[in-house]
Amino acid sequence: MEAPTCPHCGQPIERALDLPYGWWEWAGDGYQLVTASERVDVAPWVHWGCMGELRQFHPHDHGQPHTRPRPSAVS
Ligand SMILES: [Zn+2]
Repeated sequence: MEAPTCPHCGQPIERALDLPYGWWEWAGDGYQLVTASERVDVAPWVHWGCMGELRQFHPHDHGQPHTRPRPSAVS
């Protein structure tokens, strides 16, 4: 299953920034939250590749959501 396409740059949205909590990364069958925060809240998602705002986008609208946050890869 491929990630949805960004309306700004046309590239797959493999990583959506959920500022300021972290980002949502495509895991092959859904998005997984990568964050240091335990809390999920409403935020403007942004495509990591072009920094275009994804106003109509929500990671849970695509595939199976990975509900357990993954520890941040950058510390
Ligand atoms: Zn983009």
